[in-house]
Amino acid sequence: MFLDCDISAAAGYTSQPQISRVLSEKWFKENGYCLSCDNDGLSQTPANTKASDFVCGQCSESYELKAFKVRPARTLVDGAYNALMSSILSGSVPTLMLLERNDKWQIQGLTAVHRLFLTPGVVEKRRPLSLTARRAGWVGCNIRLDLIAPDALIQVVNLRNETDKEFVRERFQKLNRLRAIPLSSRGWATLTLRVIRSLNRSEFLLEEIYAQEPLFAAFYPRNNNIRAKIRQQLQVLRDLGYLEFRGSGKYLLII
Ligand SMILES: [Zn+2]
Repeated sequence: MFLDCDISAAAGYTSQPQISRVLSEKWFKENGYCLSCDNDGLSQTPANTKASDFVCGQCSESYELKAFKVRPARTLVDGAYNALMSSILSGSVPTLMLLERNDKWQIQGLTAVHRLFLTPGVVEKRRPLSLTARRAGWVGCNIRLDLIAPDALIQVVNLRNETDKEFVRERFQKLNRLRAIPLSSRGWATLTLRVIRSLNRSEFLLEEIYAQEPLFAAFYPRNNNIRAKIRQQLQVLRDLGYLEFRGSGKYLLII
């Protein structure tokens, strides 16, 4: 992986968004690889394909590239709310690839956000554009990265250091197990995982997860039996190989 962009590719372009798009896409096309299988090259999708920039010809995993000078920690501004929600609901939402570069277009970081963690609960609707705007009434959205379990974020390049490709793929492919959970309950499972990760240790008690009941209630205000749902999600995570039950309300995170 070369960690410098070929700036000459942007010759002739004057607008910053265009320059950013041309340079980041060229770099990713030459250096990106599939995280979900052993394919070392990705194909760029036609320019007008909605919300997906690259696809793996071998396993069809799709990727959307976004470039930043500084990667946002909390809020990722995305496009149309309805378009993102329908791609989530249909299961076609791509994995996000967040590229960080400096002024000289040297790649500082590349972080994947696994698509199975992009659930309706992490999408925030923005206010419709005002009537005086060119696209009056258009509704955009934000992806709330801070609401996503840290598991979903995989650093492919970190502080100009490339992470071992096999390690990256192993982590990504472990997350593919979440495919077994239907979208209707995947938000619960990933929220439970986020709460467990926030404890910062591998051994924990059921009581500690129950203590976060207000957080679950904020996400699912219509659910009247949150504790039962939490226990069910712990079983789901156990069945997927994330947890071990140790008895007497004790659990061990093993991934
Ligand atoms: Zn692939």
